Amino acid sequence: MDQLQSEIEARTDDLVSLTQDLIRIPTLNPPGLHYRDICSLVGERMGAQGWQVEMVRAEGALGDSFKHPRWNVICRLEGKRPGDCLHFNSHHDVVAVGDGWTFDPFAATLSDGRIYGRGACDMKGGLATSIIAAEAFAATHPDFAGAIEISATADEESGGFGGVAYLAEKGFFDPARVQHVIIPEPLNKDRICLGHRGVWWAEIETKGHIAHGSMPFLGDCAVRHMGAVLDEMEATLFPLLAGKRTAMPVVPEGARQSTLNLNSIHGGEPVQDADYTGLPSPCVPDRCVLTIDRRFLIEEDIAEVKREITAMMERVRARRPDFRYEIRDLFEVMPTMTPEDAPIVQVVQDAVQDILGKSAEYVVSPGTYDQKHIDRIGRLKNCIAYGPGILDLAHQPDEWIGVQDMVDSAKVMALALRRLLG
Ligand SMILES: [Zn+2]
Repeated sequence: MDQLQSEIEARTDDLVSLTQDLIRIPTLNPPGLHYRDICSLVGERMGAQGWQVEMVRAEGALGDSFKHPRWNVICRLEGKRPGDCLHFNSHHDVVAVGDGWTFDPFAATLSDGRIYGRGACDMKGGLATSIIAAEAFAATHPDFAGAIEISATADEESGGFGGVAYLAEKGFFDPARVQHVIIPEPLNKDRICLGHRGVWWAEIETKGHIAHGSMPFLGDCAVRHMGAVLDEMEATLFPLLAGKRTAMPVVPEGARQSTLNLNSIHGGEPVQDADYTGLPSPCVPDRCVLTIDRRFLIEEDIAEVKREITAMMERVRARRPDFRYEIRDLFEVMPTMTPEDAPIVQVVQDAVQDILGKSAEYVVSPGTYDQKHIDRIGRLKNCIAYGPGILDLAHQPDEWIGVQDMVDSAKVMALALRRLLG
């Protein structure tokens, strides 16, 4: 085994205890707790080894407040010669604990080669792995070229506006500063994630007219109008979307097409508090709101995606007198996919081949992650997600990360560093 790999194996205990230390800071989002603590932990560790450390609060970003400031940390180690910069970006926030745990979610228990805890695989294990890989590489190749960066950033789980989006706006992902990005999300150690599908969230509102429930003919029921919309969706829209297939290697395979989820529907009077003991009142609902989550493909155009919905609403209107509606945009993200011949893809592919003895599978994520901001705001296309951990465990009870998977991934990351900066 070469010196770099044995250097990583020698740091296995450090990798485990660093992962545990990170999990033990409960950076729950929402609302966004202990962000400064986790950034300080990473910053102090790297700073003590001579890295430049910048703590950046995303002041004024979505979610940032005096009570819950959005802290990020960026650590950079300059090489001895000019060259490229490889940046490892991990989000430090975790989602709610939820029910069903048999382990303490913030104790970071080590059991049978696994570390259990909220954020173990998504993605504090990945953050620790990239830190150990970078430290081992820097220790064995003190005369490396270019620069290494490690960042721990806020709010990926809630859109990343107080994290990577903010940093990208401030120029941290400018192609003049950073040339290669690895996001160590838990995609499994033998897969390279090239990008993600697009997203469009919108509200569809049907409008009616309020009246007494005993004389509904004097009103106009917005819920019945929405019922007609749902019928039209079933009859024409869902079949249309199922027929739109993509060449993107999305996993799981069910997401290799356009999809639409109906997130919520509300019509009529609001649901009363649980302690309300009275009856509802008789009213014809004058509005009904449906929230849709449309995931689209790299082969699709967002304008076309929106036109499909408008066309469907117009078909309903053609059949129903007095049908009135409104569509409101909530959120959109373009699909992105780094080409397979991009340098970072090739370097990590070769490293997986060397360490695991097989070629890495190329995948695309059904949902988005911080690559969207690096791509769109940062204008940096040479970006992948690659990291240890099993994606299906993310956000689940008894989430865990395997120690051996982290060690293997750290070797892949360190080898990628050597190929690019060695
Ligand atoms: Zn994640």
